[in-house]
Amino acid sequence: MLFETFTAGGCRSYVLGCTTSCAAILIDPELSLIDHYRGYLLQNGLTLRYIVDTHTHADHFSASRQLGEMMGAPVVMHRLAAAPYADLRLDDGDMLIAGALKLTAMHTPGHTRDSMCVVMADRVFTGDTLLIGGSGRTDLPSGDPHELYESLFDKLLRLPGETLVYPAHDYKGRSHSTLAEEIASNPRLQKTERSAFVAMMRDLDLAAPTHLTEALRTNMSGGKTVAELLAAAARGVPFMSMVELNGRLGDNCELVVIDLREKEAFEAGHIRGARHLPRGQLELRVNGELPDPTVRIITCCEFGKISILAAATLRELGYMRATALDGGVSAWRQAGYALELSP
Ligand code: FE
Repeated sequence: MLFETFTAGGCRSYVLGCTTSCAAILIDPELSLIDHYRGYLLQNGLTLRYIVDTHTHADHFSASRQLGEMMGAPVVMHRLAAAPYADLRLDDGDMLIAGALKLTAMHTPGHTRDSMCVVMADRVFTGDTLLIGGSGRTDLPSGDPHELYESLFDKLLRLPGETLVYPAHDYKGRSHSTLAEEIASNPRLQKTERSAFVAMMRDLDLAAPTHLTEALRTNMSGGKTVAELLAAAARGVPFMSMVELNGRLGDNCELVVIDLREKEAFEAGHIRGARHLPRGQLELRVNGELPDPTVRIITCCEFGKISILAAATLRELGYMRATALDGGVSAWRQAGYALELSP
């Protein structure tokens, strides 16, 4: 069997590969690692058979939907998962088979109601139900400390003590542990009495994870993150560096620099000769402002993000020479290039 761990920040994902059948299963993929998974699968001659999310993640962006579409593999989640893109919904005890790989779902609600651990021979992928030296929190949407108590003490911890534990997170660089080690030393598992455990979980008072709303929105709906939206737009437009643009500005400049910011920002300082066309009015005014679709347009905004979306929109509209400035007016200013004030 091939087995590989992928790490992004504190997030862990795992690829299991059957060397006889070349089938692979990917557990808890993270959006920023899509090309890493694909590279690993290709390098090892593996075909992805299943993509498993152990639960609806609230703290990172799942890559399941995108990978499922790219690689034609079904996205597997517990049947209570809200995600409309889950293709195969499992109940407690259901097993996935891919070549010699056999993975069994153990429904372990508590961190979220759709949490499941995935059991395979000598190991268990615990999602956020059990972490090394910790457990998932129970204060996020659909979390419940009573359910986590039952999932841990009445289910997960009844597996053999030597079972290897591979969690969905670890922030201290530990690769895995065993259930026996966790039972002996995990602080969360020392409260073996229900009311004490529930009280401990309720008293944790943790800060909300970064990206909570965006992660829940995208992971529950299959929608895009803002970064994905920008990346998709960026793939369809060229950029011009600040050095290049600065060198081309002048009396005979053939470029049409479009400043997409609001009026006050534009008046307070803009690139020489730039025309003001706020992003919010782009589509409404484009016919009047840019009658010639063959002009070479450079879009700019404050931070160099909206300008990408605007250049992509202009290209879609037929302005085939629309280009985005690499960086925004803020970077332009910081780099010491001249800004012009409105009269
Ligand atoms: Fe989680």
